[in-house]
Amino acid sequence: MPSFLFDRKAKIQPHVQREGVRAMATTPKTDYDVIVVGAGFGGPVAARKCARAGLDTLMLERSDVPGEKVVSGLVIPIYGFLYGPEFIRKGNPPIERPICSVVNRLVKGGRIVKTDRSLRMPRPFTLGYAAYCKPFCTWLADRATKAGAELRTRTAAVDVIMEDGEVVGVVTDRGEELRARVVIDAGGTQNPLAIKAGIRRKYPPEAIELYMLWDYEMPKRDVDEVFGHSMEFFHAYPEEGIGAPLGYGSTFYIFTYRDSIHPGLGQFLVTEGEIPNLAKLIPQYQENFTARVERWKRDIAPRTRLRAVMWDVCPIYAGLIPSAREMPIYTGGMIVTGDAAGFEASAFGDGVPNAWFSAEIAGETAVEAVRAGDASASFLARYEERVRAHPFIIKTISDRRRWDMRELLAGRDEAEFARKVRDHWGIGAFRYGNMGGPVLKASAKALRESPLVALEWIEMFRRYFDNWERNRFDPLSGTRRGLTPVPQARGEA
Ligand SMILES: Cc1cc2nc3c(=O)[nH]c(=O)nc-3n(C[C@H](O)[C@H](O)[C@H](O)COP(=O)(O)OP(=O)(O)OC[C@H]3O[C@@H](n4cnc5c(N)ncnc54)[C@H](O)[C@@H]3O)c2cc1C
Repeated sequence: MPSFLFDRKAKIQPHVQREGVRAMATTPKTDYDVIVVGAGFGGPVAARKCARAGLDTLMLERSDVPGEKVVSGLVIPIYGFLYGPEFIRKGNPPIERPICSVVNRLVKGGRIVKTDRSLRMPRPFTLGYAAYCKPFCTWLADRATKAGAELRTRTAAVDVIMEDGEVVGVVTDRGEELRARVVIDAGGTQNPLAIKAGIRRKYPPEAIELYMLWDYEMPKRDVDEVFGHSMEFFHAYPEEGIGAPLGYGSTFYIFTYRDSIHPGLGQFLVTEGEIPNLAKLIPQYQENFTARVERWKRDIAPRTRLRAVMWDVCPIYAGLIPSAREMPIYTGGMIVTGDAAGFEASAFGDGVPNAWFSAEIAGETAVEAVRAGDASASFLARYEERVRAHPFIIKTISDRRRWDMRELLAGRDEAEFARKVRDHWGIGAFRYGNMGGPVLKASAKALRESPLVALEWIEMFRRYFDNWERNRFDPLSGTRRGLTPVPQARGEA
């Protein structure tokens, strides 16, 4: 493969506005060093890395605004911020609420029979940050375009261009043929590119959870009073009717934002070998929850107003099911990252940290490939080696804690049930065999590389909390609603 290294002539395109989410070429270019498909959570991280290394980089996003086709909101676990891209840690991304504790409620007959608050951090330290996807992904995409990447929104990659068995570009829904030395697939779950490239297949139904989310308005002072900086999980046996059978879905949870809350729950497409009617069952669980659970009726419902209902899917058990886990994550000319590679964590369904980690590795690998003039499968194999060596990715996608909850259904041992909840969603999450081991390994590595990183972490906790309290974040190129700019992004990497 010829090296296009440092052929910067092609990059000088006066008609292309490179900064800003609406950056579009009047006469679009068709040849790049790297094309990144998807401007959700991972895509901009990979694109920024490539652009900063001087590569001619294009991001394609099928929706109007980055993050629009991602779920409305989520809680990004802290390990993504501490060990993920430095520019996020040093930036001022729009967050909706620092989450300092997880409250686990055990429900029986509509009553809370036990509450576990063992997993908590003193503020400003947190377990994660709640975020709305649109502003957060817009912020990420802005960082990539500021580094020199081009972003084309409302453009979907619908096929790959193959030559001699290798991917050499993509075809868009407008019929354009765009060529690149390396294509990075960061298109998430519902995106066909890696299947079209012949390296992946559709996920088996037992790997996929169908989610329903309810978006409720709730005044900030009420969220502060009722939840503070916590999110809540409600666990119960199936006969309670407020969630899927244990191990076959998520327990009913409530994510908290600045002035809204999102209850949500889901169930896998296959339960005990059967295909359940999820369109009927999931709304039924929610109806039961809101009609029966005291905490909801007394403390929450009177202060909320339903704004929207949403459905989505996640391939959460992709790392646990051999046929899904064994699919390749690269081929000649193409690297697959994040959800598209099946990297959602199986215990909680959090996928943003692994999307960030894998996108950074993909960006780094693409830079090396373009510089070496070699994007063959054997060269890109280093992507998979680095993913395997990563302290979190493989560990988190093969965590069986939620899957193993199935055994509790047979046992009916309530003490064991409470113990498993604490081990999974409570303080047990920090056990060495759970997340404690990867956290220690990642911290040791980060501290070895730069002992001052500990100060950076503390500064990040303080700054993020302060930004949230003042509702001041970096300005966004797209939607600015509800956000006011921080005068100067401190320490922007
Ligand atoms: C209901 C739900 C709740 C979740 N909760 C959490 C949580 O609390 N914490 C957490 O960490 N994770 C959570 N996740 C998972 C998280 O959203 C994903 O793991 C993460 O977004 C994956 O990042 P990604 O970059 O791989 O893909 P995405 O963020 O999905 O980004 C993919 C992007 O590519 C675009 N795209 C897709 N196909 C194409 C195409 N062909 N051409 C051009 N553009 C394309 C999409 O529009 C999208 O913008 C949740 C997911 C769901 C569905």
